[in-house]
Amino acid sequence: MRPGIGDPARLNARAMLSGAFAPPAAAGPLSREDIPRMSTPLPTIDQVASGPNVAIPAVPPTPVRRRPVPLSARKTGLYDLNLSDLTDRVTAMGQPAYRARQIYTGAYRQLADSYDAMTDLPKALKPRLEAELPIQLLQPVQTYEADHGETIKALFQTDDGQFIETVLMLYNDRATVCVSCQVGCAVGCAFCATGIGGLMRNLTTGEMVEQVIWSVRMARERGRQLTNLVMMGMGEPLQNYRATMAFIGIVNDAAGLQFGARRITISTSGILPRIRALADEPYQVNLAVSLHAPNDELRDRLVPHNTRYPVADLMATCREYTEKTGRRISFEYALMAGINDGDAIATELAQLLRRSGVLCHVNIIPFNKVEILDFERPTPAQIDRFAAVLTGHGIATTVRYSRGLDIKAACGQLRAEHEGIVPVNSSSTATRDTLPASASIDLDGEAVPGETDVVG
Ligand code: SAH
Ligand code: SF4
Repeated sequence: MRPGIGDPARLNARAMLSGAFAPPAAAGPLSREDIPRMSTPLPTIDQVASGPNVAIPAVPPTPVRRRPVPLSARKTGLYDLNLSDLTDRVTAMGQPAYRARQIYTGAYRQLADSYDAMTDLPKALKPRLEAELPIQLLQPVQTYEADHGETIKALFQTDDGQFIETVLMLYNDRATVCVSCQVGCAVGCAFCATGIGGLMRNLTTGEMVEQVIWSVRMARERGRQLTNLVMMGMGEPLQNYRATMAFIGIVNDAAGLQFGARRITISTSGILPRIRALADEPYQVNLAVSLHAPNDELRDRLVPHNTRYPVADLMATCREYTEKTGRRISFEYALMAGINDGDAIATELAQLLRRSGVLCHVNIIPFNKVEILDFERPTPAQIDRFAAVLTGHGIATTVRYSRGLDIKAACGQLRAEHEGIVPVNSSSTATRDTLPASASIDLDGEAVPGETDVVG
């Protein structure tokens, strides 16, 4: 059962942020521990499994999430490999090196979904390739359409039973895919559906590539071509750094999808060592930084790792980034009524940005409702007013309304709903395997429980 409006289990964001809410949230950053327990505990998975009145579901059973398989134990898929690694694998199988290019062309130019469909490969090799380098590792569980078919959102299940979301958005002049990079997220922003259950695991490079392949196919089926890629789905890309960089290398490869780096945007909640690392990468990708507040007092409560990477340090790092790369940063600002949408805060934000000297642009994202969280979207008049204050101070500003409001636009919502995810501190075991928000990720992309955040 979901908590409803007025239910004590509902997360009262404004009360918590103003300090009126009972737990010690008033003094420090809003943490997952501040989230109240559900009033009616959900049965544990074991209780459900062993209870006397268990109804065995009729066909087809809903796919259930399983414990994630550690990345180190996972099977390598075709989409995990760049052309050079694929060449090594293929030659190790005793095949000539040119086979790798045939496979790569089949996968990325012809979008073949099986080795059988790659007609230039020897028949005898195909079952071996299928066994050693499977192509498809994501199963679409459901696709949803909104905005008269111009927004298509897919819920996929990974081969170890995790759920992730991908969204394709068709506009007049472009088609953009929003890619997920993690199952859940360890950052745990107060307003975000993805962060609610903590982090399950990083996605592999191949699982990210496969989302792009899905969207290229979906766009083609509609007579369109995929033009833009944003890493604004589930997860924090800079906490899955290596896999994300390998992913960009593959989609950008001239021998494959040839997706221009300038059409790729990485969005981050602000992992400073990784922003510095990104400035040194060869790819000319765009960077979006999720700011959401102009001062530490407010940002500590919205983006918990702000206590580690405060606003002043974030702005200094952003400035280093723009100076080094010559590229403009987009600051994302999720606008929430009564939280960060006042005129004084708009002025403070404008002053912060001007003072920082960061070459930038602000994207205001009017808050997308997350059922279980008690944040609200401001009125259209207040959204316009906030944007007007920024532009009045000479800050380039766009209001970016999310697509697919009737299909749970806030990323992570489909998965949360599908899995019945509730806050980490609740009694439900739906999240019992997840890592705490303080979990860190090492550079190899393996999630490490029990340590604090990431060190670049
Ligand atoms: N983890 C990365 C990228 C994924 S989230 C990041 O935080 O930047 C992509 C963007 O959506 C971020 O700016 C995030 O703050 C914002 N967002 C998350 N939940 C939202 C919601 N319910 N409404 C509006 N924006 C939201
Ligand atoms: Fe993670 Fe981004 Fe959601 Fe924050 S907004 S919890 S960083 S996905």
